[in-house]
Amino acid sequence: MKVLVIGGGASGMMAALTAAEDPRNQVTLLERQSRVGRKLLATGNGRCNLSNLHASPANYHGEQPDFVRHAMEYFSVSDTLALFRSIGLITVAEESGKVYPFSDQANSVVDVLRFALEQRGVTVRCGCEVLSAGKKARGYSVKTAEESFYGDKLIIACGGAAGAKLGGTDLGYKLLQSFGHHLTSITPSLVQIRTDVSTTRSLKGVRAEAGLILKRNGQTVATNRGEVQFTDFGISGPAVFELSREASGGGEQILLLDLMQLMEEAELTAYLTEKRTAVSGVPLEDFLTGVLHNRLGRVILKQVGLDLTRLSGSLTDPELNRIAHTIKFFPLTVTGVMGLEQAQVTAGGICTSEFRPDTLESRLAPGLFATGEVLDIDGDCGGFNLQWAWSSGRLAGKLGQTGE
Ligand SMILES: Cc1cc2nc3c(=O)[nH]c(=O)nc-3n(C[C@H](O)[C@H](O)[C@H](O)COP(=O)(O)OP(=O)(O)OC[C@H]3O[C@@H](n4cnc5c(N)ncnc54)[C@H](O)[C@@H]3O)c2cc1C
Repeated sequence: MKVLVIGGGASGMMAALTAAEDPRNQVTLLERQSRVGRKLLATGNGRCNLSNLHASPANYHGEQPDFVRHAMEYFSVSDTLALFRSIGLITVAEESGKVYPFSDQANSVVDVLRFALEQRGVTVRCGCEVLSAGKKARGYSVKTAEESFYGDKLIIACGGAAGAKLGGTDLGYKLLQSFGHHLTSITPSLVQIRTDVSTTRSLKGVRAEAGLILKRNGQTVATNRGEVQFTDFGISGPAVFELSREASGGGEQILLLDLMQLMEEAELTAYLTEKRTAVSGVPLEDFLTGVLHNRLGRVILKQVGLDLTRLSGSLTDPELNRIAHTIKFFPLTVTGVMGLEQAQVTAGGICTSEFRPDTLESRLAPGLFATGEVLDIDGDCGGFNLQWAWSSGRLAGKLGQTGE
């Protein structure tokens, strides 16, 4: 049987190598970029957070988040790690459950997949952008600008629209829509949050471990904790990405950062009171040196409205209280989130109700399958999106033969 896979990303490579396990299949993988797995190389800051030991349907979103259940049970995290091991990749899990290649290099993941595709005789055609696809009397034909290809079965693994520089495109949606499938609204997910940077511009590049509280119209709508990074447009980092879905909700929003999770506010005030005596002759601009990143300390002191040329010993008790309060509740006015271009994932996609969860076959076009991010499924930050790519790619690559 001829099998065509469109998209040489995470799910497409997994689907192709699964389909090629059956020696009767002749599998061709078409990738529009000059090499396969380009986005994968950028994942996890170049380390590729390829899975998460705690992955469950609760980590996924979309109109039908439970759609992932079958694929995740059929090809679980442990199945995924065993398969990677069998094709040459050793992985390690962090305490948080995040799984990385032991080499700490995303290119190891891409390379072992490439080798496995080659080993199993998959024909990989890069620089091959599929522009249209159509149903034949039997099977499917797809066209690039120069060529046509035929497949008895067709797997669309084109990914979502997020991260255009790394290959994100809406082509997969268009191909599936041409078969009558429907696209939900799409928005960026796992993306930086824009904030009013008038007071924080000097913090560009500063990282901090923080607690985060997102408030909308005065009400807490989400909380998180973890690393944050200040940027010239707002705030970034894993803990921020996880709040971005909520932050795209609009309204009057404020993000409060707890920049000293080690201490309660009263304890921090007491500590700063002692420090006032210990460094009384030091200019105020250095008062928070040793407590926070220097630049962050200065911004806090400015936010409190203090003249930084004063001496630390001149701080009054109310001023110390205000400093401690600002460290515990550092306010950032949210102005939105960055766009799909910067996002790691697309929230929304092709309606999952139009696919069978047990095979990922289209209910509208038999023999057509879809995998990964092109579908209306997006996961939390932490390896969940790639796990969906592997699980869905594996299931679709079975081409409906999931009995064994
Ligand atoms: C910067 C960044 C970091 C990330 N880090 C992580 C992480 O650490 N952990 C995690 O779990 N997730 C991460 N993600 C998300 C994860 O990479 C994606 O969810 C996942 O790659 C989706 O897999 P996919 O197979 O659906 O699509 P993709 O991996 O995007 O692959 C789709 C492929 O199809 C090709 N293609 C598209 N249209 C066509 C066409 N018409 N013809 C031919 N080829 C086509 C594309 O060029 C692409 O190679 C990250 C994403 C980004 C952008």
